[in-house]
Amino acid sequence: MSCFELTHESESSLARAGVLHTAHGDLATPFFMPVATKGAVKFVEHPDLYKMKVDCLITNAFINYLKPGLQIIEKAGGLHKFFGWDKSLFTDSGGFQLLSEDFVDHVTNNGVHFRNPFDKSVHLITPEQATHIQNTLGSDVAMCLDHVLHFGKNRLEYFDAMVRTTEWALRCKESHKNNNQLLFGITQGGTFLDLRKKSTLALEAMEFDGLALGGLCIGEDPSTMHNITEYSKRFIAKERPIYLMGVGSPLEILNLVERGVDIFDSAYPTRMARHGRIFTHKGPLLINRSLHKESFTSLDPECDCFVCRNHTRAYLHHLFKTYEQNGLMLLSYHNTYFIAKLMQEIRTAIKENNFEKFKKEFEQQYK
Ligand SMILES: [Zn+2]
Repeated sequence: MSCFELTHESESSLARAGVLHTAHGDLATPFFMPVATKGAVKFVEHPDLYKMKVDCLITNAFINYLKPGLQIIEKAGGLHKFFGWDKSLFTDSGGFQLLSEDFVDHVTNNGVHFRNPFDKSVHLITPEQATHIQNTLGSDVAMCLDHVLHFGKNRLEYFDAMVRTTEWALRCKESHKNNNQLLFGITQGGTFLDLRKKSTLALEAMEFDGLALGGLCIGEDPSTMHNITEYSKRFIAKERPIYLMGVGSPLEILNLVERGVDIFDSAYPTRMARHGRIFTHKGPLLINRSLHKESFTSLDPECDCFVCRNHTRAYLHHLFKTYEQNGLMLLSYHNTYFIAKLMQEIRTAIKENNFEKFKKEFEQQYK
């Protein structure tokens, strides 16, 4: 049986709904994964995520490999047991850490020489080892090791990284051993369409369980990201789930669902909450502004989350201004809920063949 079933396709856009079958449950698509890099979504506890019907998180294989280390996680019985999380989990391979100078020493065709920021030791992570680490961690979906470059490199640099990513994808696929785990490939190619085409065709031929569009949402303008998504999709089989890594803003999620993306992840909603930037149906709200000092209304009158039902902007403004940690928890709860609810509404709209109208109304109100 294929791991992905397409259940609804929009008549007037590429938006679609389906189900991704994983070892820890079925995930209705499109869905968004909060980021739990070290095993925790910052300031949001697992029981709250369950209540919000968040069915999947993404954690970082490389970070978990460094701390607490593979041995401890193996002893605990795998990542799910160690985290106390019994729903689905994706692991990013560590490719994303290539964007952080703290983590990367250098890259060769053999693999990435990562620097451990905790003790400065250097570790060579080959595609085989990235796969072995994820096999051992026991996530539901593993990602291939890819070579991610910063935005704005030249064509030759993107070409090199794309070729390397393709070779690594094959090595990941050949060394993948865990039958309970799906494996997704990641395409690269920067903003060059011909490189994107080569990358997508090569990975498509390897028949991964899903394909991720990598190296996007890192500085290019949104229209470029939209074009690359639409263009890449032409070369991907309809029955393969598409994951766009690193997108977490409500408007961008809508734009990309419209272009056929099924899976998203980003630390954006919780990071914004910690900076006091709150999603509402009328657009972002800055809770630190003094106009909220005496505002006895909810963060978002259209939101039915615990925070919006019980607390006022004035109270949340007060907690935020006095550095009270509970303030950050409540704001992170709301932003995470907002995206989870948006994804539910998107799925319903697609099933009712109403997505484009839903998107338009959401955008009009949000702006
Ligand atoms: Zn709310």
